[in-house]
Amino acid sequence: MANLVSPCCGGEYTDNDDGPSYCCGSEIKQGLCTECKEHAEPEEGFICDTCEDFFEEAMEDYEYAEKQHDSYLEDRMDAERDER
Ligand SMILES: [Zn+2]
Ligand SMILES: [Zn+2]
Repeated sequence: MANLVSPCCGGEYTDNDDGPSYCCGSEIKQGLCTECKEHAEPEEGFICDTCEDFFEEAMEDYEYAEKQHDSYLEDRMDAERDER
């Protein structure tokens, strides 16, 4: 079975259960946004454990590996072009 990883770093991540509020991106205390004092839900998504970036959908680890490989090939092609 494939592993799900964060799309930014290909690492571990956690649910945004106690993350920032949907309305203001502020802290939520007892279901209330600390910024606007309205009822707030945490933004639906996940937080990368490595860089703490917010993202909505995790990626399969093999997709991440492919993405890394593609950008590696592109970098190499760019470098070769520069040498000419
Ligand atoms: Zn990350
Ligand atoms: Zn708010």
